[in-house]
Amino acid sequence: MSANTNSAILHRSLEKEYPAASGGDGVYIRTADGRRIFDGSSGAAVSCLGHGNKEVIEAICSQARALAFAHSSFFTSDPAEELARFVMKRSNGAFSKVVWLGSGSEAVESALKIARQYHVFRGEPERVNFVGRLHSYHGNTLGALAAGNNPGRRKIYEPILSPAFHHVGRCFYDADGKGLSEEEYEDQRISEYEAEFLRLGPRTVAAVILEPVVGATLGSVLATKNYLSRLSELCRRHGILTIFDEVMCGMGRVGTYHAWQSLGNVPPDLQTVGKGLGAGYQPLSAVLVGKTVCDTFLGHSKGAQAFLSGHTFQGHSIACASALAVQKIIARDGLVANCQKMGEVLHTFLTTSLPSKFFENGGSLRGLGLFRTVDFGTLGDVCGGPLGKEVSQKAFDLGAAVYLCSPTVDAILICPPYIMTKVETKELAGTFVEAFKQVLA
Ligand code: PMP
Repeated sequence: MSANTNSAILHRSLEKEYPAASGGDGVYIRTADGRRIFDGSSGAAVSCLGHGNKEVIEAICSQARALAFAHSSFFTSDPAEELARFVMKRSNGAFSKVVWLGSGSEAVESALKIARQYHVFRGEPERVNFVGRLHSYHGNTLGALAAGNNPGRRKIYEPILSPAFHHVGRCFYDADGKGLSEEEYEDQRISEYEAEFLRLGPRTVAAVILEPVVGATLGSVLATKNYLSRLSELCRRHGILTIFDEVMCGMGRVGTYHAWQSLGNVPPDLQTVGKGLGAGYQPLSAVLVGKTVCDTFLGHSKGAQAFLSGHTFQGHSIACASALAVQKIIARDGLVANCQKMGEVLHTFLTTSLPSKFFENGGSLRGLGLFRTVDFGTLGDVCGGPLGKEVSQKAFDLGAAVYLCSPTVDAILICPPYIMTKVETKELAGTFVEAFKQVLA
């Protein structure tokens, strides 16, 4: 079935053909027309256990048999409670409570609202501004879109996006830092925040929001060594909350349970997670709430309604039971460590197999764990145009789906399931390199 001929769906692209995905097994997706596609980006950093996991399927069926849905204004449920405790335990005490939601965008919206409410509860209603970063992405609903700064996605909606969101820093993108030491580069970025806080008035700022590892917009760009700790310290001085959006980079993908644990180990006040949390078996996202915010909410509510933002399907029993099975498997099978190991295998394979033309023209590899990016640098300039779109399409034709980053960079994100073996990692990387060579030829 294609988008333009038989489909009843208004697809993202009206030009592209979308084969129907009809089955899946491990790292592969089968299409209705008989193809087998390597899920080389876990969809978009979602399917971390791959497809057809029998334990997860059993957890879904068992919960469906017991009870599918009970509204959260009347009930909690065992899987929702147990999953919350499980995630917090794995976070080593960084968070005190969890808010369940359905999508990453909903989690971001809720984190923004929790931050706003926190300041109102503390008697600082003048804190109405949020500071995000250029070239970031936090989701597609209006608040999340306003928080992010992905020009391609925002432009048409700009007149209806809230002016309370401001953006600083061209991001901790290593190419920007050429000629500067890492420390000088960080100095610049942190002073941009400081200048923005002063421009707005520090007591008008509610929170900063950022992705510790930038995902879809730039392709696995890591915060530099002291960036998160220095920013957190600056925010603390001004009473501003930190929100880390780990919807894409979190839940083990970079080789630690949370990405910030690899990047200075300073937890945020609020964190969003999604995608890998439920691994695509059910939609589920969350806001993880740190102690400072939690204590303020608990101290304030005194029996009254604490958080004013309910969603009908939050804490859905089947979604929580499913994600609980996913998270237990990840912990039991040491899959976070596997991300680290297989990430290195992937990196080494690409480093030794990509043609020299790639590196000679500013091509680079970056990322951590199984969150890796191939950036074509200036190679597109000598090849008559950006390469990412063509290479990702060619890879798909050869049997591997990999994720094209936004046009801000000419780059492809490779973020396969955590369950990858060495053989599968080399197979995926081999298909990618072959696609690249065929496009260059
Ligand atoms: N935040 C980040 C960092 C994301 O990458 C995404 C999705 N790519 C979102 C939020 C939004 O998640 P969703 O598409 O599930 O709403």
